[in-house]
Parts: sequence; structure tokens; C-alpha cells
Amino acid sequence: MIQQHKKLLFIGGRFDNSGGRSSKIMRSIAKSICMDKRLDDLPGWYDTWITTPRDDAWTTTHNGGSLDALEQAIIDTADHDIVFWFPDVTNDIEKLAPRIKARNPACTLVTSKRNEGRYTIDDIIAHGLRNHANLMLEIKTGTTPYRARVLDPLGNLYYEGSDFEKAGTVLRRRTDDLMFRTTRSQSECVGDEIPPPDDKEFYRVVRSSADKFHGIIDGIAYKERMIGNASFRCAHGFPSMRESGTGSIYVSRRNIDSRDIGVEGFVACEPGIPVKYYGDAKPSVDTPIQLSLYEALPKINYMLHGHVYVQDAPYTTKVLPCGAIEEAREILAVVPSDTTRFAINLAGHGCIIGSDSAAALEGYRFVPRPMPENQTRLYE
Ligand SMILES: [Zn+2]
Repeated sequence: MIQQHKKLLFIGGRFDNSGGRSSKIMRSIAKSICMDKRLDDLPGWYDTWITTPRDDAWTTTHNGGSLDALEQAIIDTADHDIVFWFPDVTNDIEKLAPRIKARNPACTLVTSKRNEGRYTIDDIIAHGLRNHANLMLEIKTGTTPYRARVLDPLGNLYYEGSDFEKAGTVLRRRTDDLMFRTTRSQSECVGDEIPPPDDKEFYRVVRSSADKFHGIIDGIAYKERMIGNASFRCAHGFPSMRESGTGSIYVSRRNIDSRDIGVEGFVACEPGIPVKYYGDAKPSVDTPIQLSLYEALPKINYMLHGHVYVQDAPYTTKVLPCGAIEEAREILAVVPSDTTRFAINLAGHGCIIGSDSAAALEGYRFVPRPMPENQTRLYE
């Protein structure tokens, strides 16, 4: 499964009109990421490009430089697998980061935010979400010594402390896990929109559950994107495949606010993965997991996923990012295949509940996830 020679790009230090300045903190982080002790000996690290062999990747590192060099780095991100984007720039140049995922949506992106003390954890996460970052490095500059936090967009905390070499090691290990040990499924539009059945009872349950999730994910600016999603199975196949006896599945649209969802909020999908959907609107990023679960759990017809925990429900063990196919395996390790009703907490992510009827999705008590949620033991 492990592919050879991934390409890493590390950008840190100051970038400005007068040639920039290297940063000691960035040198410490880069040293751990590249696993290259020589970085200590480089004089000043001023405007220097280095390519170093890593166990499974080539790393290009740039610590400080001109704005032209930074612009060139944005172009270079397009053919890299993992991008550590930590340039210290004035606020008006900060807008560069969203261009990375726009050019290279498949890369694993780590962004940074310097925090003199005025940003809350919600601000840091909202910043990461705007840039489509997979991980974020927060550098707290209001304290002596400076402190680092390594966070993800679901609010998981992987490192907190003032040892920047250690922060770099945690960044490298977590990005390795994201790159090499989780799988994302592609989705493909395979035909014109197919209108979903008008399952009023289910839509009502989804709206009322989304209201509850919204109520307890309190004060999080990004919560519209964080509420979750839902899906259901219809016993009848699509007109084209009715003969085969396979059902059809409808999943909520990507990034929809499910508090006022109705029939128009659902996208028709064929059973099984990779995801094949009908119409212009893409289904939720969690679709591959839910399609895998419908395949393995024949008596489950409805599912609801939220970024909150269900009180007293069992937990999965691995902390996986939203949309990783491995999550289905984690869930199926806990749920028996003939189940008609289940509720599972997804470690560091939220919950998924499933049932044979829409009404049976109700009656659970939801609790907020801790924010941040401490996962520092994973990379000690
Ligand atoms: Zn999710």
C-alpha cells in the first residue's frame, strides 16, 4: 500500500519585499520533518533550498525569502504530496494559502497561524477550514517561550508544548498516517439527477436531530459545516437497475445545513464504493463510509452522522479524518451484521447512528465533543 518517494514541501520563515528572514523555530520543525540533522549546520538558513532524502519522501525546504520565492512556492505545491505551509507574512498576503488546495486538492496540507493571544480555538479551526487544511500548527507568540499546538479541523489536539522539534515529529507522524494509512474514495457522477422518495418522517427526524447537534456545538463559528449528514436506503432500485433487486441509497448533499433539509437535500447514489452519484450536487464526504455500511448491514435503512457524541455509546479506536474509508471497518468491528439499530461514537470525529426505521433514530442523548479533544497520547 505504501507508495515510494512522496514529495514534501516545507515553507517557513519570514517572506517579504526585502528578502525575508529565516526562523529558528521553523528550523527546529523542519529538522524533525526532514529527519535531517544537517539542517543545524546551515548558516542562517537564509534563502536556501534543500532537497533531502527521507525514508519515503523527498523534502524541499525553504526557510525565509522574497515574495517572489513565495509565489514560486505556491506554483510548486501543485506537484507535492504533503505541503507544510508556515510562511510568516503580513495579513494581506495570507490569502495565498487557499490557492494550494485549489491547485492540488489531493495533497495533505498543513497550515499555520501565529496567535499573540487574541484567537480562540474556534478561530484557529475556522482558519484551517477556510484553507482546506488537513492539520494546523498554532504558534502561540504571547508567551515565553513560544508554544505550539498541532490541531486538526475536527478539533483534535496532537501536540501542545514549547518543544518545536517534538511538534515537527508529531506533524510528520500525523501527516504520514493521513497520507499512507487512510484512504479516500473518489466519487463520480454517473447520470442525471434522480428525485428521492418523499420520506417525510425521516426528513423530520434529520431536521430535529440537526437542531439538537447545533444546540450543543455551541459557539463554534464553523458549525454549519460541522453538523453532519444523513442517508437512507429505498428498497426499490433506480429505474435502470430495478431488475437486479438492489436498493437505491440517498445521501445528504455536501456541506448542506441539515436543520432545514427536505427531499431536495438528498443525492441518489448507487450501492457500494467507489461512490457513483446522480445529478450535479455531490453527496457528503462521508458517503463512502455510509455506502459501505449499507452493504454490510442489510437490516439498516437509515443513518445519521453528527459531530457530537452519543452518551454511553461504544467508541471506535482509531482517530480518522472525515471521509476515510477505514472508518467503516472500525464501525463494523463493533456492530454485528444483523443489527437493526446501533449507535457508535467515532473517536475524535462524532457519532453515527443507524436503524431499520426512521423513528428508531430518535431517543438518543447527545453530548458535545471536548474542544480541543486531547489525542496527544497517540504520538508520545
Ligand atoms: Zn464527519
